[in-house]
Amino acid sequence: MLQDIKYTSPETIADAAALLGEYGEDATVMSGGQSLMPMLRQRLADYELLIDINEVADRDYLRVDDDELRIGCLVRHTDVANSDTVAESCETLAETAAEIGDTQVRNRGTLCGALAHADPAGDPPVVATALDAEIKSQGPDGEHTYDGSSFFHGFYETELGENEIVTEASFPVVEPPYGAAYQKYEPSAGAYPTATVAAVVELDDSVVTDATLVTGAIEPGPTPMPEAEAHLAGETPTEDLVTTTAELVGDGSDPMEDSDGSVEFKREITKTLAKRALVTAIDRAGGDIE
Ligand SMILES: Cc1cc2nc3c(=O)[nH]c(=O)nc-3n(C[C@H](O)[C@H](O)[C@H](O)COP(=O)(O)OP(=O)(O)OC[C@H]3O[C@@H](n4cnc5c(N)ncnc54)[C@H](O)[C@@H]3O)c2cc1C
Repeated sequence: MLQDIKYTSPETIADAAALLGEYGEDATVMSGGQSLMPMLRQRLADYELLIDINEVADRDYLRVDDDELRIGCLVRHTDVANSDTVAESCETLAETAAEIGDTQVRNRGTLCGALAHADPAGDPPVVATALDAEIKSQGPDGEHTYDGSSFFHGFYETELGENEIVTEASFPVVEPPYGAAYQKYEPSAGAYPTATVAAVVELDDSVVTDATLVTGAIEPGPTPMPEAEAHLAGETPTEDLVTTTAELVGDGSDPMEDSDGSVEFKREITKTLAKRALVTAIDRAGGDIE
């Protein structure tokens, strides 16, 4: 049974932020409710006021401006998954959204809510880190902008300041010579993933000039893999290079052991995911693996 909580649905983000400022930690924002409602039902969280932002107008936009895919805070995972705009500008993000939870979760859950929530096993934070998405927020003191690559601090912690609401996430348009891919292993259909890897590469005349590799779900938050990235940079992709890079991703990770699997199991899965993500990212960047 839900606790006795006051409910309000302001019509502007500014009003919602002002209420957050007024109530502080006694209030919380609700977007899709797909993480918040289970937490309230299980009494893992307790608030005096629920601020539902679903009545705020014009926050369900999804468009490309100046080589940036901009996604408003009321855009649902389903909208991201089914959008031609996303498929054409940031295919990896569309694929990621299509594999989140089940249909019900995707129909209500929002991309920005998932970024703000920063679940260690969440899919969007890993892609937002790898693609260095820009995350915008509004608080009682005005607007703020954060870099996706440094936004997530692990275990539901982010850079987001107190009483701020995420208003938009924007992702770079990914097209050759850039390529991106996301791979995950989930123990059963619709379940949170056990391990995930996002890969982003930039090629110049068949040479990898820049690479980003980020693991997810195995550690408290999205985790960049600098040793593996350095191993790839400046090289021409070969089968051997992709395999040794993927091994560095797995061996360089520090997975948490839990009911989903042992440290060794997660490292091995991570290697497989890293290899698949790299092969796809290189292909999408317009490269060949010799
Ligand atoms: C059965 C089930 C399976 C799932 N499987 C997956 C999965 O495989 N992968 C995955 O990534 N996720 C999964 N999810 C979570 C889902 O993606 C949620 O949509 C997401 O975690 C939160 O988005 P939301 O809009 O529902 O946020 P809410 O539940 O409304 O809010 C979650 C938290 O974020 C805060 N918040 C929400 N929006 C904002 C905002 N705009 N600004 C500031 N704070 C905000 C809230 O205050 C709250 O603390 C699953 C959920 C369920 C119930």
